[in-house]
Amino acid sequence: MFDVKKEVLECENELVALRRDFHQNPELGYKEFRTSKIVSQYLTDIGLDVKSVSKTGVVGILKGTAGEGKTLLIRADMDALPVEEKTGLPYSSKNTNVMHACGHDGHTAIQLIVAKILSRHKDEFKGCIKFMFQPNEEEAGALDMINEGVLEEPDVDGAMALHLWSPVKSGRIGLTTGPVLGTTEEFELKIMGKAGHTSTPHTAKDALLGACKVVDAIQSLGTREFDPLNPIAIMFGKIHGGSARNVITDCVELGGTIRFLFPDEKINKPKVLDAFERIIKGTCDALSLGYEIKYIPSNPSLINDPYMVSIIKEADKETYGTNDNIDDFKSLAGEDFAEISQRVPSVMTFVGIYNEEAKSCYPHHNSKFTIDEDIMKYGVELHVRAAMKFLNN
Ligand SMILES: [Zn+2]
Ligand SMILES: [Zn+2]
Repeated sequence: MFDVKKEVLECENELVALRRDFHQNPELGYKEFRTSKIVSQYLTDIGLDVKSVSKTGVVGILKGTAGEGKTLLIRADMDALPVEEKTGLPYSSKNTNVMHACGHDGHTAIQLIVAKILSRHKDEFKGCIKFMFQPNEEEAGALDMINEGVLEEPDVDGAMALHLWSPVKSGRIGLTTGPVLGTTEEFELKIMGKAGHTSTPHTAKDALLGACKVVDAIQSLGTREFDPLNPIAIMFGKIHGGSARNVITDCVELGGTIRFLFPDEKINKPKVLDAFERIIKGTCDALSLGYEIKYIPSNPSLINDPYMVSIIKEADKETYGTNDNIDDFKSLAGEDFAEISQRVPSVMTFVGIYNEEAKSCYPHHNSKFTIDEDIMKYGVELHVRAAMKFLNN
């Protein structure tokens, strides 16, 4: 086995430069034209077989020459967010109201260097690696690449991804077996009544009163209907209705998210949605109001496979010198790598970047979010080592 740490350190300047270039030139989902072009060219230059998939997605295939074997998929996401950057960094975003505020610039840079290092050592592993650079993670873009066959020809036997993660401290990783990120279901809800004057409320059907009662009634679901040890967070993020102080409105529009982290999503998700709709229907029926619910395609839960987790654990020990840096980490956040984890044994590692000195303490999607760049090299080393282990075991 070659000296991974030494090769990673030799590439560190390039790693940081790549990340800063992506950071300065962020692109929204499915508009990652520049990023995708750079990624394609880079992978071609290091000798990979490169394909473009799903508009701005890129897949680079690297075949090992040590024999036939398994296929590993490693995924990075490339999209930025509609956020105005306020970090004050010298390499801040050049694009108005677009910012890499989730760390995907770091993911793309890390994965290019992982590909570069592994491409130099293809005689040392069996099988094949698919480097998946996906667009539009923030709006569940992975499914489009899956539908276009990214998991086939050759069929993928295991998948890995990492997320640079500010809730976890620099030098530590979040790694847990089983469901680790929540099922997310986004919804729009319209409550319809009959308009009227506030002096004669008995002649109207008050949609606003209905909306208030629905928001309140729905909160009982997580404890009175489902085991409170398996939390369900139903949150309303917006509510709009009415135009004047003395007019009873005939329509209120609400929007929100349903999130949960149940072991068996396929059985439990229909139960949650049935209960959600039953409470809305019951509340609206009681007030003679109508309603419409629309769901927006979101993420299933992300499941970490025990074997894939064990591979990362071994790689973690060699990378950071210990397994004592592993935090048990779960969150109700959504992540579209979940789509892959529902189809093949997968692992997502949350690589900690919280460091006050590096000012990388802001939450993801915040206008001051930044990463601890010193940690990126650990991300590279972790995936290089884990890939070699998976393919040669
Ligand atoms: Zn994000
Ligand atoms: Zn992200």
